Amino acid sequence: MSGSAPRRQAVEAVTSFAIPDKDFTEPLGGLFGKNVFGPAAMRSRLPKQVYNSVLATIEKGAPLDPSIADSVASAMRDWALENGASHYAHVFYPLTGLTAEKHDSFLEPDANGSSLAQFTGKTLIQGEPDGSSFPNGGIRSTFEARGYTGWDVTSPAYILENPNGNTLCIPTIFISWTGEALDKKTPLLRSQQAMSAQAARVLKLFGHTDIDTVVSFAGAEQEYFLIDRHFYFSRPDLMAAGRTLFGAKPSKGQEFDDHYFGAIPERVLAYMIEVDRELFKQGILAKTRHNEVAPGQFEIAPLFEKANLAHDHQQLMMTTLKKVAERYDMTCLLHEKPFAGVNGSGKHVNFSIGNANQGNLLNPGDTPHENAQFLVFCAAIIRGVHKFGGLLRAVVASASNDFRLGANEAPPAIISIFLGDQLMDVYDQIAKGGATGSKESGTLEVGVDTLPKLKADPGDRNRTSPFAFTGNRFEFRAPGSGQSISGPMVAINAILADSLDFIATELETAVGEGADFNEAVQKLLEGIIIEHGAAIFNGDGYSQAWQEEAAQRGLKNLRTTVDALPELADPAVVEMLAKYGVLSNRELASRLEVYLEQYILSVTVEAKETAELANTKILPAALRYAGELAGIAANLKTVGVPADTGSLETITGLIGQLTAGIATLEAALAHEGGETSMDHATYAKDSLVPAMAAVREAADALEGVVADDLWPLPTYQEMLYIL
Ligand code: ADP
Ligand code: MG
Repeated sequence: MSGSAPRRQAVEAVTSFAIPDKDFTEPLGGLFGKNVFGPAAMRSRLPKQVYNSVLATIEKGAPLDPSIADSVASAMRDWALENGASHYAHVFYPLTGLTAEKHDSFLEPDANGSSLAQFTGKTLIQGEPDGSSFPNGGIRSTFEARGYTGWDVTSPAYILENPNGNTLCIPTIFISWTGEALDKKTPLLRSQQAMSAQAARVLKLFGHTDIDTVVSFAGAEQEYFLIDRHFYFSRPDLMAAGRTLFGAKPSKGQEFDDHYFGAIPERVLAYMIEVDRELFKQGILAKTRHNEVAPGQFEIAPLFEKANLAHDHQQLMMTTLKKVAERYDMTCLLHEKPFAGVNGSGKHVNFSIGNANQGNLLNPGDTPHENAQFLVFCAAIIRGVHKFGGLLRAVVASASNDFRLGANEAPPAIISIFLGDQLMDVYDQIAKGGATGSKESGTLEVGVDTLPKLKADPGDRNRTSPFAFTGNRFEFRAPGSGQSISGPMVAINAILADSLDFIATELETAVGEGADFNEAVQKLLEGIIIEHGAAIFNGDGYSQAWQEEAAQRGLKNLRTTVDALPELADPAVVEMLAKYGVLSNRELASRLEVYLEQYILSVTVEAKETAELANTKILPAALRYAGELAGIAANLKTVGVPADTGSLETITGLIGQLTAGIATLEAALAHEGGETSMDHATYAKDSLVPAMAAVREAADALEGVVADDLWPLPTYQEMLYIL
């Protein structure tokens, strides 16, 4: 066994790990929704009219009737107590992108000194956590720290289990005492409402009379890495920054593609099975699981749900992935780029819109050229992606996602839309005056008579597009693995509201002026394709040629967070989000401020950690090794053997490079960042990021020459392959 003492210990612990034998006797199916106070639990416990009222709010978006709150609260409390809960928590989603919860006991002393389970409608509807330490971007100052949580009836309460006692969790929104949004949830609900109102106008034009609330659906594919915990705790960089700040690429990387969809390692499969069970209990239908491209990388995808619920469930899924990993002595890394030179992790957000009466509005059917309603909704998206590409880029911007976007493994930083051959062809026909046919899907000839005929899709997939049509939905592929899906879904709902409003107004006007409806639709679609078709790109998004072509088409190429975030201050974006009541100017400005601060904070933490690790671990190891080499050379000289000083020269050269790099980084860190957050973020990008890279370059080169038993950090090979 090789490596320095802590590394040897880690490898020993890893290889002697035995998979815990969990006695999972209860079948998976029986667990579904066990911990959820959803419609089933409510129906059996609530008076009929209360149940109907709650359901109308959940299903139809009817305003919440406050008079039912006491009744719901008492049923919820009884259910929670029966399920072992001693506490309840309002769960909310602050701008950090994480999940926050404040726990309160159900038990309160009464006048006689004994304890009673207290939980009224008032406590259910509203809470007041001390919000002063949550980011607010200037909306509140700390001396006026009031923040309220408000019950989100549309997302069911659930039990969070713990071996020592359960907690009733109530999903909420989080707002300031002025009523301004401080969270990721409020704008999501608002954007959903705005999109729905405009979609209804369009549906009405298509002659529907039974228009149901149009909702957006989301299904997020989550990629993640697993490494053994012993390695994690020997990597201060992973602990502080979530990614390795040092580490030379292993000689065997992912080049062989032998991990992708390969057999899942037994320990990981045991983990995945337990994750699925935990998610099932929370009513989250985890559907697929497989290895991803990089060694140590995996994916989980749940069945899609209403975006609001999908958001809450996605947050719970991230927490669950991390929590269950600990039970198997592993750490789940949700960072977008934990290992340089190895594929990063994304979170593909699949979405569609629709409802029970009108179905999936993004389903083209077999003959899309005849499906005018589909073509109109799809055109709304094309228009939105073109008009608000900058916004879509900004909502996926983060220091960690910067390592991924545009790095030939994830979509480029240019936001374009992929339609596939069939749809592309239909819209081409429309642009030329009218669509008369659709390219047909065929069957695949496998050449073996005993095999069934397989149906071929009318178009291939495109893995390089940030925004791809995949048959009956779109897949937004730019979000990062650690990000909340709220930002992406808010942006998608909002741009749809804007486009559908435009479309409805155009068609209403045309029809009002006596135009034939079908002709008006053709004219509208023709106009949209001509004006916004520049965003459609079916080619290779990773190619250099696309970078050039996109520039010619006038598409933005916002490479870093610092380039992308100012899009949130773009007047068109500010005006649009305010117009549809998604985010007020002040709320949006506060978000820009918070996201800039988060960028500065992550880069600064990484820079400090880089300097510290270089000073306290890497440089000492290199100096010890140089000393050893010098000693050996001197000894050899005394016995008359001419020493080969080549390796000593290499190492002293690299030590010089490392110390110079550290000095530059420390000087950059000592400098005050700038007046505004934007100045400061720009400074971090232009000074700290390259200074860190220079230190890393020298350190990674040293890893290749310093004697293995002196190297202080677990290597990429160890972390990625010993699982
Ligand atoms: P792939 O890897 O082929 O893109 P996956 O099966 O891994 O597909 O994930 C697809 C995701 O898209 C799942 O979460 C799935 O539930 C979701 N999805 C499927 N249909 C829709 C739809 N109509 N609207 C929203 N999401 C959908
Ligand atoms: Mg997938």
